[in-house]
Amino acid sequence: MFGSAREFSNSIFSCGQTYVALSRVNSQKGLHLINFDPSNIKAQIAAIKEYNRLRAKCRPDLNKIPLKHNKNIHPISDLSIPGFSNLDAISCYANASLQVIFNCTRILNILINSLEDTILKKLAYSYTSQVCQLSAFSIRNQIGHPYVNIEQQDAAEFISALISLYEPLHNSLLHQLQTILKCSRCKKSRVIISNNYIIQLNVPNDTKTVTMHSMLNDMSKEVTIENITCSACNTTSNHTQTTNILNTHEYLYFQIQLWSDVNAKITNLQINSLTTSTLTVHSKCYTLNSVICHHGQSMTEAHYTAIIKHQNKWVRCNDTSVQFERWPRGAKDVYIIIMEKK
Ligand SMILES: [Zn+2]
Repeated sequence: MFGSAREFSNSIFSCGQTYVALSRVNSQKGLHLINFDPSNIKAQIAAIKEYNRLRAKCRPDLNKIPLKHNKNIHPISDLSIPGFSNLDAISCYANASLQVIFNCTRILNILINSLEDTILKKLAYSYTSQVCQLSAFSIRNQIGHPYVNIEQQDAAEFISALISLYEPLHNSLLHQLQTILKCSRCKKSRVIISNNYIIQLNVPNDTKTVTMHSMLNDMSKEVTIENITCSACNTTSNHTQTTNILNTHEYLYFQIQLWSDVNAKITNLQINSLTTSTLTVHSKCYTLNSVICHHGQSMTEAHYTAIIKHQNKWVRCNDTSVQFERWPRGAKDVYIIIMEKK
């Protein structure tokens, strides 16, 4: 090719794409660049390293090419994880939820190998086929009200609704909680067993720093519940309550109760050593798989993103944007925690 005009604004989407376009001309005179901004060019780290090696060897007068523009973010095309579109500007709760569910490889395998052709199976299949962009709308539509509405929803409720709908997934996530209520008057206890997909973790009001272990310890601590009717002595009295987790499976999904008061979110919570802690529940060991972050003050006017573990690094999934990122200090904005059995 002897002459070429190239437009380089926001159209560059892939590593090496600029090189391919520019290398079509065999003379600089035939090349016309429009909107050229070098910072838009994407290149693989391996390619930059090779050019730096060649420069050091053959052209020591030239500077090294910096490896990254932003030390926290690698080029998007290093990843094979598709993003999810957010065309109605509220789908982020569903997008972040699907990213964490699909990052649970055992759940993904169950879905792909399930005999029934479901919408979630199709979506899981597309997810593994390196499709660039997916949409959560078909799933929202299938679950129905309130997820078809153009209103922000709670990601934890969405996950529960989604799991309830797909029976093959029940066994990966289902756990039982054992609550023991003891009457202060007749001293008799009753045991309540409840089946759940998501474990609620409460944060004491004045607490700023927690760990997974401290939150779980708090959960199993004895608390006093005032004025409930005792089934043994039939009087209204105070009861002590203790809660323990029973029968866990492949994954543990935790929801941090950031709203002790409906209108006031706990925003300054720090969860320390979340990425390194190992939870042992009934001799099964669990480590962090992914989290969903809730950004903003209110439940309805907020934005959700997911951080998933991929190739032992952390990847932020923010609708269509999927990028390596540093783990946020103190697990800032973390709302839902997904742990995986080792
Ligand atoms: Zn009693």
